[in-house]
Amino acid sequence: MQALEAFFSLLTAPGRRVVITTHQKPDGDAMGSSLALWHYLRSLGHHPVVISPTNWAGFLNWMPGVQEVLDYESKTAQAEELIAQADWLFCLDFNAIGRVKRMEPALSQAPGLRILIDHHQEPQVSYFHYGASDTSKSSTAEMVYDFIVASGGADSITEGMAECLYAGVMTDTGSFRFPSTTSSVHSMVAFLKQKGLKHHLVHDHLFDNFLENRLRFIGHALLYRMEVIYEMNTVLMAIPKSDIHRFDISTGDTEGLVNFPLSIQGIKLAAIVIDRDEERKWSFRSKGEVDVNQFARQHFNGGGHRNAAGGRSTDSLDETVKHFYKVLPDLRGSLE
Ligand code: 5GP
Ligand code: MN
Repeated sequence: MQALEAFFSLLTAPGRRVVITTHQKPDGDAMGSSLALWHYLRSLGHHPVVISPTNWAGFLNWMPGVQEVLDYESKTAQAEELIAQADWLFCLDFNAIGRVKRMEPALSQAPGLRILIDHHQEPQVSYFHYGASDTSKSSTAEMVYDFIVASGGADSITEGMAECLYAGVMTDTGSFRFPSTTSSVHSMVAFLKQKGLKHHLVHDHLFDNFLENRLRFIGHALLYRMEVIYEMNTVLMAIPKSDIHRFDISTGDTEGLVNFPLSIQGIKLAAIVIDRDEERKWSFRSKGEVDVNQFARQHFNGGGHRNAAGGRSTDSLDETVKHFYKVLPDLRGSLE
Protein backbone atom coordinates (compact mmCIF):
# COMPACT_ATOMS: atom_id res chain seq x y z
CA MET A 1 0.00 0.00 0.00
CA GLN A 2 1.48 3.34 -1.06
CA ALA A 3 1.01 6.43 1.10
CA LEU A 4 -2.12 8.45 0.40
CA GLU A 5 -0.01 11.51 -0.44
CA ALA A 6 1.22 9.67 -3.54
CA PHE A 7 -2.37 9.68 -4.76
CA PHE A 8 -2.88 13.47 -4.61
CA SER A 9 -1.52 14.14 -8.11
CA LEU A 10 -4.15 11.79 -9.62
CA LEU A 11 -6.96 13.91 -8.16
CA THR A 12 -6.33 16.82 -10.48
CA ALA A 13 -7.46 15.14 -13.73
CA PRO A 14 -11.28 15.33 -13.46
CA GLY A 15 -13.90 12.88 -14.69
CA ARG A 16 -12.94 9.77 -12.73
CA ARG A 17 -15.62 7.22 -11.85
CA VAL A 18 -15.39 6.67 -8.13
CA VAL A 19 -17.02 4.32 -5.66
CA ILE A 20 -16.82 5.22 -1.98
CA THR A 21 -17.72 2.44 0.40
CA THR A 22 -17.58 1.74 4.10
CA HIS A 23 -18.44 -0.96 6.65
CA GLN A 24 -21.81 -2.67 6.91
CA LYS A 25 -24.43 -0.91 9.03
CA PRO A 26 -22.51 2.37 8.72
CA ASP A 27 -22.40 4.58 11.82
CA GLY A 28 -22.00 8.35 11.99
CA ASP A 29 -18.29 8.22 11.22
CA ALA A 30 -18.64 5.77 8.32
CA MET A 31 -21.47 7.67 6.68
CA GLY A 32 -20.18 11.16 7.58
CA SER A 33 -16.68 10.53 6.24
CA SER A 34 -18.01 8.86 3.08
CA LEU A 35 -20.37 11.72 2.29
CA ALA A 36 -17.76 14.40 3.02
CA LEU A 37 -15.42 12.70 0.56
CA TRP A 38 -18.29 12.36 -1.93
CA HIS A 39 -18.92 16.13 -1.80
CA TYR A 40 -15.22 16.86 -2.14
CA LEU A 41 -14.67 14.60 -5.16
CA ARG A 42 -17.73 16.11 -6.86
CA SER A 43 -16.30 19.58 -6.31
CA LEU A 44 -13.16 18.40 -8.14
CA GLY A 45 -15.22 17.28 -11.16
CA HIS A 46 -15.19 13.53 -10.53
CA HIS A 47 -18.22 11.20 -10.57
CA PRO A 48 -18.41 9.59 -7.14
CA VAL A 49 -21.12 7.38 -5.70
CA VAL A 50 -21.38 6.15 -2.10
CA ILE A 51 -22.36 2.48 -1.81
CA SER A 52 -23.20 1.10 1.62
CA PRO A 53 -22.92 -2.70 2.00
CA THR A 54 -26.22 -2.72 3.94
CA ASN A 55 -28.94 -0.38 5.11
CA TRP A 56 -28.20 2.19 7.82
CA ALA A 57 -29.79 3.81 10.85
CA GLY A 58 -32.57 6.31 10.22
CA PHE A 59 -30.82 8.89 12.41
CA LEU A 60 -28.28 9.39 9.59
CA ASN A 61 -30.89 10.33 7.02
CA TRP A 62 -30.52 14.08 7.55
CA MET A 63 -26.96 14.11 6.19
CA PRO A 64 -26.50 16.21 3.05
CA GLY A 65 -26.18 13.77 0.12
CA VAL A 66 -27.48 10.67 1.95
CA GLN A 67 -30.46 10.39 -0.41
CA GLU A 68 -27.95 9.55 -3.20
CA VAL A 69 -26.33 6.67 -1.25
CA LEU A 70 -26.95 3.20 -2.72
CA ASP A 71 -27.73 0.25 -0.46
CA TYR A 72 -25.90 -2.72 -2.00
CA GLU A 73 -28.41 -5.21 -0.63
CA SER A 74 -31.42 -3.53 -2.19
CA LYS A 75 -29.72 -2.30 -5.42
CA THR A 76 -27.22 -5.10 -5.98
CA ALA A 77 -27.09 -5.13 -9.80
CA GLN A 78 -26.67 -1.37 -10.10
CA ALA A 79 -24.06 -1.31 -7.34
CA GLU A 80 -22.06 -4.16 -8.89
CA GLU A 81 -21.97 -2.40 -12.24
CA LEU A 82 -20.69 0.80 -10.63
CA ILE A 83 -18.05 -1.15 -8.66
CA ALA A 84 -16.85 -2.97 -11.79
CA GLN A 85 -16.60 0.30 -13.76
CA ALA A 86 -14.95 2.42 -11.07
CA ASP A 87 -11.49 3.87 -11.62
CA TRP A 88 -11.09 4.34 -7.88
CA LEU A 89 -12.64 2.48 -4.95
CA PHE A 90 -12.32 4.36 -1.67
CA CYS A 91 -12.73 2.13 1.38
CA LEU A 92 -13.46 4.15 4.49
CA ASP A 93 -13.60 3.32 8.19
CA PHE A 94 -12.83 -0.40 8.11
CA ASN A 95 -9.70 -2.51 8.43
CA ALA A 96 -10.81 -5.96 7.31
CA ILE A 97 -12.43 -6.57 3.97
CA GLY A 98 -15.00 -8.90 5.54
CA ARG A 99 -16.62 -5.77 7.02
CA VAL A 100 -18.28 -5.08 3.64
CA LYS A 101 -20.21 -8.32 4.06
CA ARG A 102 -21.77 -9.60 0.79
CA MET A 103 -20.05 -6.88 -1.25
CA GLU A 104 -16.65 -8.49 -0.77
CA PRO A 105 -16.47 -10.53 -4.03
CA ALA A 106 -17.51 -7.56 -6.18
CA LEU A 107 -14.93 -5.34 -4.49
CA SER A 108 -12.16 -7.91 -4.72
CA GLN A 109 -12.75 -8.59 -8.42
CA ALA A 110 -13.03 -4.91 -9.43
CA PRO A 111 -10.12 -3.67 -11.53
CA GLY A 112 -10.04 -0.12 -10.06
CA LEU A 113 -7.49 1.23 -7.59
CA ARG A 114 -8.43 0.49 -3.98
CA ILE A 115 -7.71 3.31 -1.52
CA LEU A 116 -7.99 2.91 2.25
CA ILE A 117 -8.72 5.69 4.74
CA ASP A 118 -9.11 4.21 8.20
CA HIS A 119 -8.18 4.42 11.88
CA HIS A 120 -8.68 0.80 13.05
CA GLN A 121 -5.91 -1.48 14.22
CA GLU A 122 -4.16 -4.03 12.00
CA PRO A 123 -5.60 -3.13 8.59
CA GLN A 124 -5.30 -5.58 5.68
CA VAL A 125 -2.83 -3.31 3.90
CA SER A 126 -1.97 -5.76 1.12
CA TYR A 127 -5.52 -5.37 -0.22
CA PHE A 128 -5.06 -1.67 -1.02
CA HIS A 129 -3.02 0.22 -3.61
CA TYR A 130 -2.96 3.51 -1.70
CA GLY A 131 -4.02 4.45 1.74
CA ALA A 132 -3.77 6.09 5.12
CA SER A 133 -4.17 3.99 8.24
CA ASP A 134 -3.63 5.81 11.51
CA THR A 135 -4.88 4.40 14.81
CA SER A 136 -3.99 7.63 16.60
CA LYS A 137 -6.74 9.44 14.67
CA SER A 138 -10.05 10.06 16.39
CA SER A 139 -12.15 9.14 13.40
CA THR A 140 -12.15 8.51 9.70
CA ALA A 141 -13.90 11.87 9.36
CA GLU A 142 -10.80 13.55 10.78
CA MET A 143 -8.66 11.65 8.25
CA VAL A 144 -10.91 12.70 5.36
CA TYR A 145 -10.62 16.29 6.61
CA ASP A 146 -6.81 15.92 6.66
CA PHE A 147 -6.96 14.45 3.14
CA ILE A 148 -9.04 17.36 1.86
CA VAL A 149 -6.79 19.97 3.46
CA ALA A 150 -3.50 18.28 2.48
CA SER A 151 -4.63 17.89 -1.12
CA GLY A 152 -5.39 21.63 -1.29
CA GLY A 153 -9.17 21.51 -0.87
CA ALA A 154 -9.72 23.46 2.38
CA ASP A 155 -11.54 26.24 0.51
CA SER A 156 -14.03 23.77 -0.95
CA ILE A 157 -15.38 22.71 2.45
CA THR A 158 -19.03 23.75 2.58
CA GLU A 159 -21.43 23.90 5.50
CA GLY A 160 -22.92 20.57 4.37
CA MET A 161 -19.51 18.89 4.31
CA ALA A 162 -18.76 20.40 7.70
CA GLU A 163 -21.93 18.78 9.08
CA CYS A 164 -20.88 15.36 7.74
CA LEU A 165 -17.35 15.68 9.12
CA TYR A 166 -18.57 16.92 12.49
CA ALA A 167 -21.08 14.05 12.76
CA GLY A 168 -18.23 11.59 12.18
CA VAL A 169 -15.78 13.03 14.66
CA MET A 170 -18.45 13.63 17.28
CA THR A 171 -19.73 10.05 16.99
CA ASP A 172 -16.31 8.43 17.26
CA THR A 173 -15.02 10.58 20.12
CA GLY A 174 -18.13 10.00 22.27
CA SER A 175 -18.94 13.73 21.92
CA PHE A 176 -15.29 14.75 22.43
CA ARG A 177 -14.65 12.81 25.63
CA PHE A 178 -12.48 9.83 24.57
CA PRO A 179 -8.68 10.14 24.87
CA SER A 180 -8.52 10.22 21.04
CA THR A 181 -9.85 13.80 21.17
CA THR A 182 -6.60 15.61 20.39
CA SER A 183 -5.95 19.31 19.88
CA SER A 184 -6.08 18.58 16.12
CA VAL A 185 -9.69 17.48 16.57
CA HIS A 186 -10.59 20.76 18.23
CA SER A 187 -8.67 22.74 15.58
CA MET A 188 -10.64 20.94 12.89
CA VAL A 189 -13.94 21.74 14.62
CA ALA A 190 -12.90 25.39 14.94
CA PHE A 191 -12.27 25.45 11.19
CA LEU A 192 -15.64 23.80 10.48
CA LYS A 193 -17.34 26.44 12.64
CA GLN A 194 -15.72 29.10 10.47
CA LYS A 195 -17.32 27.36 7.48
CA GLY A 196 -20.77 27.85 8.99
CA LEU A 197 -21.24 24.60 10.92
CA LYS A 198 -24.21 24.71 13.30
CA HIS A 199 -23.00 21.96 15.60
CA HIS A 200 -26.08 21.95 17.86
CA LEU A 201 -28.22 20.88 14.90
CA VAL A 202 -25.98 17.85 14.32
CA HIS A 203 -26.40 16.83 17.99
CA ASP A 204 -30.19 17.21 17.64
CA HIS A 205 -30.23 15.05 14.50
CA LEU A 206 -28.10 12.30 16.03
CA PHE A 207 -29.33 12.16 19.62
CA ASP A 208 -32.75 13.79 19.90
CA ASN A 209 -34.57 12.28 16.98
CA PHE A 210 -35.81 8.87 18.13
CA LEU A 211 -39.26 7.45 18.75
CA GLU A 212 -40.68 6.68 22.18
CA ASN A 213 -40.16 2.93 21.70
CA ARG A 214 -36.37 3.26 21.77
CA LEU A 215 -36.31 4.97 25.16
CA ARG A 216 -38.75 2.40 26.58
CA PHE A 217 -36.48 -0.33 25.19
CA ILE A 218 -33.40 1.19 26.85
CA GLY A 219 -35.26 1.39 30.17
CA HIS A 220 -36.31 -2.24 29.83
CA ALA A 221 -32.80 -3.40 28.91
CA LEU A 222 -31.18 -1.54 31.82
CA LEU A 223 -33.73 -2.90 34.27
CA TYR A 224 -34.02 -6.51 33.17
CA ARG A 225 -31.05 -7.42 30.96
CA MET A 226 -28.08 -5.94 32.78
CA GLU A 227 -25.80 -8.29 34.71
CA VAL A 228 -23.21 -6.55 36.86
CA ILE A 229 -20.17 -8.75 37.48
CA TYR A 230 -18.54 -6.71 40.23
CA GLU A 231 -15.60 -9.03 40.82
CA MET A 232 -14.53 -8.39 37.21
CA ASN A 233 -15.68 -4.74 37.01
CA THR A 234 -17.77 -5.82 34.05
CA VAL A 235 -21.34 -5.42 32.86
CA LEU A 236 -22.98 -7.79 30.41
CA MET A 237 -26.27 -7.22 28.61
CA ALA A 238 -27.81 -9.94 26.45
CA ILE A 239 -30.77 -8.78 24.38
CA PRO A 240 -33.06 -11.58 23.19
CA LYS A 241 -34.98 -11.41 19.94
CA SER A 242 -38.25 -11.13 21.87
CA ASP A 243 -37.16 -7.67 23.15
CA ILE A 244 -36.31 -6.55 19.62
CA HIS A 245 -39.80 -7.52 18.46
CA ARG A 246 -41.66 -6.26 21.51
CA PHE A 247 -40.19 -2.75 21.21
CA ASP A 248 -40.12 -2.76 17.41
CA ILE A 249 -36.39 -2.06 17.41
CA SER A 250 -34.72 -1.29 14.07
CA THR A 251 -31.18 -0.57 12.81
CA GLY A 252 -29.61 2.14 14.94
CA ASP A 253 -32.01 1.94 17.90
CA THR A 254 -29.54 -0.15 19.91
CA GLU A 255 -26.60 2.16 19.26
CA GLY A 256 -25.31 3.83 22.40
CA LEU A 257 -26.87 1.31 24.80
CA VAL A 258 -23.46 -0.25 25.42
CA ASN A 259 -22.16 3.04 26.84
CA PHE A 260 -24.59 3.27 29.76
CA PRO A 261 -22.96 0.63 32.01
CA LEU A 262 -19.62 2.47 31.97
CA SER A 263 -21.26 5.21 34.03
CA ILE A 264 -21.34 2.81 37.02
CA GLN A 265 -18.46 3.55 39.39
CA GLY A 266 -15.54 1.17 38.85
CA ILE A 267 -16.93 -0.56 35.74
CA LYS A 268 -14.18 -0.98 33.13
CA LEU A 269 -15.85 -3.26 30.60
CA ALA A 270 -19.32 -3.15 29.08
CA ALA A 271 -20.38 -5.93 26.75
CA ILE A 272 -23.67 -6.21 24.94
CA VAL A 273 -24.86 -8.97 22.66
CA ILE A 274 -27.93 -8.66 20.51
CA ASP A 275 -29.76 -11.61 18.99
CA ARG A 276 -30.06 -10.53 15.37
CA ASP A 277 -31.62 -12.67 12.67
CA GLU A 278 -28.41 -13.84 11.03
CA GLU A 279 -25.99 -13.72 13.96
CA ARG A 280 -25.38 -12.67 17.52
CA LYS A 281 -23.74 -9.21 17.36
CA TRP A 282 -21.37 -8.17 20.16
CA SER A 283 -20.31 -4.65 21.12
CA PHE A 284 -17.59 -3.99 23.67
CA ARG A 285 -16.58 -0.74 25.36
CA SER A 286 -13.81 -0.42 27.91
CA LYS A 287 -11.73 2.01 29.91
CA GLY A 288 -7.97 2.41 30.15
CA GLU A 289 -5.81 -0.65 29.50
CA VAL A 290 -8.65 -3.12 28.95
CA ASP A 291 -8.04 -4.13 25.33
CA VAL A 292 -11.35 -5.10 23.77
CA ASN A 293 -9.87 -5.09 20.25
CA GLN A 294 -7.74 -8.12 21.14
CA PHE A 295 -10.55 -9.69 23.12
CA ALA A 296 -13.05 -9.34 20.25
CA ARG A 297 -10.48 -10.56 17.75
CA GLN A 298 -9.55 -13.65 19.77
CA HIS A 299 -12.94 -14.76 20.98
CA PHE A 300 -15.69 -13.17 18.91
CA ASN A 301 -14.44 -13.00 15.34
CA GLY A 302 -14.25 -9.22 15.48
CA GLY A 303 -12.02 -6.28 16.30
CA GLY A 304 -12.01 -2.48 16.33
CA HIS A 305 -10.14 -0.20 18.71
CA ARG A 306 -8.62 -0.79 22.13
CA ASN A 307 -11.58 0.72 23.97
CA ALA A 308 -14.38 0.10 21.43
CA ALA A 309 -14.78 -3.05 19.43
CA GLY A 310 -17.37 -5.40 18.03
CA GLY A 311 -17.71 -9.01 17.08
CA ARG A 312 -20.14 -11.72 16.07
CA SER A 313 -21.10 -15.31 16.73
CA THR A 314 -23.24 -17.91 14.98
CA ASP A 315 -23.92 -19.68 18.31
CA SER A 316 -27.25 -19.25 20.08
CA LEU A 317 -27.59 -16.31 22.47
CA ASP A 318 -27.22 -18.60 25.50
CA GLU A 319 -24.15 -20.31 24.05
CA THR A 320 -22.34 -17.10 23.13
CA VAL A 321 -23.09 -15.68 26.60
CA LYS A 322 -21.63 -18.84 28.15
CA HIS A 323 -18.57 -18.40 25.98
CA PHE A 324 -18.23 -14.82 27.19
CA TYR A 325 -18.20 -15.94 30.83
CA LYS A 326 -15.63 -18.58 29.97
CA VAL A 327 -13.17 -16.23 28.25
CA LEU A 328 -13.71 -13.15 30.44
CA PRO A 329 -10.91 -14.22 32.84
CA ASP A 330 -8.47 -13.55 29.96
CA LEU A 331 -8.94 -9.88 30.81
CA ARG A 332 -8.55 -10.32 34.55
CA GLY A 333 -5.14 -8.63 34.67
CA SER A 334 -6.41 -5.35 33.25
CA LEU A 335 -9.92 -5.46 34.73
CA GLU A 336 -9.03 -5.75 38.41
P1 5GP B 1 -19.82 -1.13 17.44
O1 5GP B 1 -19.79 -1.78 18.77
O2 5GP B 1 -20.25 0.31 17.54
O3 5GP B 1 -20.57 -1.91 16.41
O4 5GP B 1 -18.32 -1.11 16.92
C1 5GP B 1 -17.26 -0.59 17.68
C2 5GP B 1 -16.01 -0.53 16.85
O5 5GP B 1 -15.62 -1.86 16.49
C3 5GP B 1 -16.18 0.20 15.53
O6 5GP B 1 -14.99 0.89 15.29
C4 5GP B 1 -16.40 -0.89 14.51
O7 5GP B 1 -15.92 -0.50 13.26
C5 5GP B 1 -15.62 -2.05 15.10
N1 5GP B 1 -16.31 -3.32 14.83
C6 5GP B 1 -17.59 -3.63 15.14
N2 5GP B 1 -17.89 -4.90 14.78
C7 5GP B 1 -16.78 -5.40 14.21
C8 5GP B 1 -16.45 -6.68 13.63
O8 5GP B 1 -17.27 -7.59 13.55
N3 5GP B 1 -15.19 -6.81 13.13
C9 5GP B 1 -14.25 -5.81 13.20
N4 5GP B 1 -13.04 -6.02 12.70
N5 5GP B 1 -14.52 -4.61 13.75
C10 5GP B 1 -15.76 -4.40 14.25
MN1 MN C 1 -14.67 5.28 12.76
